[in-house]
Amino acid sequence: MTIDHDQDHGQPGRTQPDRPASPHGHNVSIGSIAGMPIRVHWTFALLIGFVVVVNWDLGRTAVADGILWIVALFAFVVAHEISHCLVARRRGARVLGIILIPLGGLSQLEAMPEAPIDELAVAIAGPIASLGLGLALMGVGLGVGAHVWPPTLFAGSWLARLAWLNLLLGAFNLLPALPMDGGRVLRATLARNRSNLEATLLASRISRCAAGAMVVVGLFYDFWLVLIGLFVLMGSNAEMENARREHHKNNRPRRDEE
Ligand SMILES: [Zn+2]
Repeated sequence: MTIDHDQDHGQPGRTQPDRPASPHGHNVSIGSIAGMPIRVHWTFALLIGFVVVVNWDLGRTAVADGILWIVALFAFVVAHEISHCLVARRRGARVLGIILIPLGGLSQLEAMPEAPIDELAVAIAGPIASLGLGLALMGVGLGVGAHVWPPTLFAGSWLARLAWLNLLLGAFNLLPALPMDGGRVLRATLARNRSNLEATLLASRISRCAAGAMVVVGLFYDFWLVLIGLFVLMGSNAEMENARREHHKNNRPRRDEE
């Protein structure tokens, strides 16, 4: 249900913009947490509009409930993203902020720390936070006697829905598909005994298989998954191009030293 971080492997020497350049443009700021600005992409209005239309015939309470659910969902997406950003900051990356799009959140880092172990730590932080929150909410739910089984997102108690939401958020993001967290964990793991380029190419190949599977499964079960599959496909191609570019740049003979 979410895809995140667009870890722009920043170009050394690039001037730092006052306002972070967004790959998606047209965002509205809704505040900041720990010095990290949170922005909402304009397409969010479409999501709210969709929720209103879908619930319109069910009455005002249903519409309000639907909107409240979206707000709660994205509050937990922000918690997930903040975890990535805090770890990234601790490891020396400059955090530009968080952008929320209807598919999820994107943490914008100007540059990732180079070491694979740092990328792994940043990537795994979000799913760990989501799984931790999910388990904690599940524990509270069980404690107060809420019905937490079977898994539910759209009906039943809020505690159960939020618990399952976070567990899903954590587990889904661990799928081994770039640019999702699991894909980054995979690449960082592969990069331990390969060059960055080789690790990215291999991880991208696996990501394209995962994206294809998401599209096929999505066509039968949930159209949202088709969109996420296409997003992963584009994202993994971009990662591959980026790695190739970096590789060529680093291996080009430097004239000033000749
Ligand atoms: Zn994440």
